[in-house]
Amino acid sequence: MASLISDLLDRLHKEYVENRSGTPLQGVPSLEGIDEDAFGICIAMADGQIYESGDTDVEFCIQSISKAFTYGLALCDQGKERVDATIDMEPSGDAFNEISLHPVTGRPRNPMINAGAIAASSLVAGQSTAEQTERIHSLYETYAGRELGFAADVFADEMRDGNRNRAISYMLAENDKLRTEPDDAVEVYLRQCSVLVTCRDLAMMGATLANNGINPVTEKRAIDVGLAERVLSVMSTCGMYDAAGEWVAEVGMAAKSGVGGGILAVLPGQLAIAVFSPRLDEHGNSVRGVAACRRLSKDLELHALHVT
Ligand code: GLU
Repeated sequence: MASLISDLLDRLHKEYVENRSGTPLQGVPSLEGIDEDAFGICIAMADGQIYESGDTDVEFCIQSISKAFTYGLALCDQGKERVDATIDMEPSGDAFNEISLHPVTGRPRNPMINAGAIAASSLVAGQSTAEQTERIHSLYETYAGRELGFAADVFADEMRDGNRNRAISYMLAENDKLRTEPDDAVEVYLRQCSVLVTCRDLAMMGATLANNGINPVTEKRAIDVGLAERVLSVMSTCGMYDAAGEWVAEVGMAAKSGVGGGILAVLPGQLAIAVFSPRLDEHGNSVRGVAACRRLSKDLELHALHVT
């Protein structure tokens, strides 16, 4: 089995490395030097076993994939009732940075679009943005099982050019959906987006979710079982921007992608797949990442609703 998975990863890597379609994220100057050709695929089993191919050690910004983990922390800090009163969990079908709040409740549609993610960051416990950021960063390290870096230049660029996120945050404040000041909520959110991970880190973070919330190598708990289930549920319906429905049909795994080029897909109890390749499709999802996940789901029969 082990060599079968390793061979498959190498084969897929060789096949999809030829695909140079898509465009890396534009408009963040510090990301302009990124190696567009970088491509890594990693599978982490729920027992911590790793299979990998390609550039699985290259660091990149976690970006929107952070939303899933911070949502889990908000649930842990504030409880489901308060979080649910603040953030809905319905797929929006909108782009990630849509200013979409429910017309009656004022709640953001889900925690995987920016509006819901900024509200979730604001709900993380802490007396200051520094304390909230520190708690988020160290939680991601618990998931990954090692220390993680921070892309200060990307954070600075996104803060400087963050008017849209600030507009979203002020709308949230207007609707009473923030625990902190709107500018502080955006700062915490953008700091979490700039945490640096490798493809292997991301796979291990997913394996922690797959392993009932416990990192399989360090054996440290990152999230309670019931909350991990909630995070995975929301990932499976809302995690792939406005391509979430197609993703569920084609891949059938809980997933979250980020505009940094990462995709994380999780099959509870079994494994996590992480792919890194910076060129993005029109939805903001990594082109090679989507292709590799589709193939892995099919070839390894990972679709959660697989019918034999
Ligand atoms: N920092 C990006 C933003 O909020 C994250 C976007 C993403 O990965 O979807 O605009």
